[in-house]
Order: sequence, then structure tokens, then C-alpha cells
Amino acid sequence: MEKKITIAIDGFSSTGKSTVARRLAKELGYVYVDTGAMYRAVTLYMMRKVFVSEGNFDEEAIIRHLPFINLKFVFNEDKGYGEIYLNDENVEEEIRYMEVSKHVSRVSALPKVRKMLVDQQQEMGKDKGVVMDGRDIGTVVFPDAELKIFMTASTEQRAKRRYDELMGRGDDISYEEVLKNVKDRDFMDSTREDSPLRKADDAIEFDNSTLELEEQFDKVLKIVKDKIAEVNS
Ligand code: C5P
Repeated sequence: MEKKITIAIDGFSSTGKSTVARRLAKELGYVYVDTGAMYRAVTLYMMRKVFVSEGNFDEEAIIRHLPFINLKFVFNEDKGYGEIYLNDENVEEEIRYMEVSKHVSRVSALPKVRKMLVDQQQEMGKDKGVVMDGRDIGTVVFPDAELKIFMTASTEQRAKRRYDELMGRGDDISYEEVLKNVKDRDFMDSTREDSPLRKADDAIEFDNSTLELEEQFDKVLKIVKDKIAEVNS
């Protein structure tokens, strides 16, 4: 049987990581794990409890409530990927709202939150055959991943992509607001003390600013297939 590998995809917000990761997983018959969705779901839980809101961040309550959070991905046949469930409720759509985006980086900076989610991610990927995207997959979650990809794109391009996505869903939001959120998250994610976003030394960098989606995917797929062949040779 063909040996499977672990594929870690990291990068700044809205670089198109999840689009590539999902397609890769589908093409290879691998499991896709959207770790950003896990941090977002924890944040949503804390917002509903009002431990996190504009001007309020109750770190002690957040940590105390972590054991009450159960996360799982349930495969949606129509969409072709796993949707995230927070305590048995499908929150895949709600976690993408701007309110969650505004608070998620602060919640994600807490070491206890990271420890809980990293443990779960390592468990999900322990049998390999996984494509995982996030900020610390190649550096912390799977430092031994056979393949690490680091995606970049200009800030404006990324904000535009995110803005189009949110508008397409009918959200009432301005481009400036999206741009600010992308910049704020980039800053917090790359300057936090625990597992800051950075390119792993052995990651392949992909600048997604200019490449068209199709072209980019073909390039990544070729790298992946070469790596799988190498592992199996
Ligand atoms: O990938 P996405 O933009 O949905 O991630 C939302 C947020 O979750 C990021 O801005 C970051 O603060 C946090 N995150 C993280 N580590 C990961 C994935 C996401 O800290 N592995």
C-alpha cells in the first residue's frame, strides 16, 4: 500500500490556504483539517458566554470553560469537506463572521487554548494522510511533516479576496474594515509569544499574489506527488 504523508500548509490570513488544502485532500483522498475553524469555534463559544466582547476579555473564565468545548469535523457530501461542530452544533458559517474574526487572534494567543487544540490536531493527523492548514502546523503541530508549504500574498490582495468572499455571502462590511482586520490578525498572529506564525525553515514558499488558482494548484499538486513518490521509493 502507498505510504501516506502529512502536508502542512501555513501562512497569513486569506492567502488561499484552505482552497488549496481542500482540493489537495480531495485529489489525494486525504483528510483535510482546517485548524483556523477550531480556533474560531472556541472563540465563538467564548463570545456567546460573553467572556470575550468589545472591551472585555476574561482570560480566567475562558480557561475554566475549555473542558466544556467539544469540537469535531463532520464530512458534508455536498460541499466535499468536513464542517466544524461546536458541542454538536454546526457552526461552519457562524465562525466566519467578522465579529469572530475580530476576537480570534486574541483567544488563539492563549497557551492553554493552543495546547488543547494542538493536542487534538496531532491526534487527528497521527495516521498521516492529512492536509492541515493553519499558522503553526509546520513549526509546532507537525514539525516532522514530509511536506510544508508556506503561502504568502500581498495584504491588499488578501483583503480583497476576503472582502469578495464576505460580500458574496451577503455580509454588510466595508473593504477598509476587512483590510484592517487582516492586518491586525497578521500582526497578532506573528508577534504572539506562543507559536507565532512563521515560515518553517524547510517549508516551500508560495507567493499566491500573481498565480491563477488553477495554475497554482497544479504547481502544488506536482510538488506533492513528487514527495509521495519519493517517500514510496
Ligand atoms: O485560518 P483562519 O484565518 O480561519 O484562522 C483564524 C485565526 O485563528 C487566525 O488569525 C489565528 O489567530 C488563529 N489560528 C492560529 N493557529 C492556527 C490556525 C489559526 O492561531 N493553526
